[in-house]
Amino acid sequence: MSSDYIPFSPPSIGADEIDEVVDTLHSDWLTTGPKTRRFETEFRDYLQAPGALALNSCTAGLHLSLASLGIGEGDEVITTPMTFAATANVIEHVGARVVLADVQPDTLNIDPDQVAAKVTARTRAIMPVHYAGHPADMDEIDAIAEQHGLYVIEDAAHALPAAYRGQPIGSRNHLTAFSFYATKNMTTAEGGMLTGPTEVLDQARNLSLHGMSREAWRRYEQGGTWKYDIVAPGFKYNMTDIQAALGIHQLRRLAGFHQRRLEIVRQYNEAFSAQGLLAVPEQRPYVSHAWHLYVLRLVTDRVAVTRDQVISELQQRNIATSVHFIPIHLHSFYAGKYGFAPEDFPVALDSYQRMLSLPLNPRLTDTEIGRVIDAVVDVVSAGQYRMAA
Ligand SMILES: *Cc1c(COP(=O)(O)O)cnc(C)c1O
Repeated sequence: MSSDYIPFSPPSIGADEIDEVVDTLHSDWLTTGPKTRRFETEFRDYLQAPGALALNSCTAGLHLSLASLGIGEGDEVITTPMTFAATANVIEHVGARVVLADVQPDTLNIDPDQVAAKVTARTRAIMPVHYAGHPADMDEIDAIAEQHGLYVIEDAAHALPAAYRGQPIGSRNHLTAFSFYATKNMTTAEGGMLTGPTEVLDQARNLSLHGMSREAWRRYEQGGTWKYDIVAPGFKYNMTDIQAALGIHQLRRLAGFHQRRLEIVRQYNEAFSAQGLLAVPEQRPYVSHAWHLYVLRLVTDRVAVTRDQVISELQQRNIATSVHFIPIHLHSFYAGKYGFAPEDFPVALDSYQRMLSLPLNPRLTDTEIGRVIDAVVDVVSAGQYRMAA
């Protein structure tokens, strides 16, 4: 990799994280133990959540949410096509059916009107994703859930720290799953946290470690007992203390990371709003946006280059980009099983075809931000020139 390469989302790991991991390695406890408990407590307090359960991924949190609520065979779960495959995959894992509702054109979050139209007698839950870190329309989603007696499970993989009408995402009484995957706003390499009502989290905690009876994880502690009982066929989803060692310090640095993301977004928005060739990401006035992703959309009737051409031009200039996301209904498994056509979710399809995500992470220097801006403006307006010529 050449030294002037701008990666998409490199981790920001500091000396405190490294020291804490080393301390863990020198301790007698590597897997779920005192540091995992500490991380759970600090994360819960940070969000003022009712409770928190540390896991080995956000996917595990979403899967456990469905399993803990008893959602399965014969049930339907409504979610968005504009997400990573994990959100839909877990619905398949419990044997329920994936029902997609198209997104809103401004935020690319699930559209409550589309959700309402998809509710049937079999619907059990709605799974909104706070796309890119912008909170979904929770008041409208809650109202639909209340009217039909549905659960709401929030995919908050992007939404740390974010708030909806002043309330932090993860602080409400919904099951909410966060991701600490390497590219996310804070990382434990792999990892996740599930927040929500304590009764459901107790059930999820049990299922996260084989379905062993309560407190069985203490069996190797002093005074622990060798006896345990399997009360349900659970999973292996627990977080390790090595991961928690990273998480404890990443959480402390989150506010600083967030400030830097806001500054980068300010510079990007200012640069890209000007020419009218690019739609910059929108933020509604009543939310606090986590800015996990910076997603641009080409204004296709004014730009002569395609999204794929922009990505390859930027790649040639040593700038990494990505696309979030290939909508769920375009993947062969989902298209095959459910018979989805690309046009079934027109807003998601149209946005997908003209979107790209730019590097947005606290390690970007001002020089790098300038390079990204110059390259994008150059590539996009060159396309306009070619069209005019
Ligand atoms: C990253 C991501 C996930 C999965 O997170 P893991 O921690 O890797 O399991 C789920 N949903 C969305 C929207 C994501 O971006």
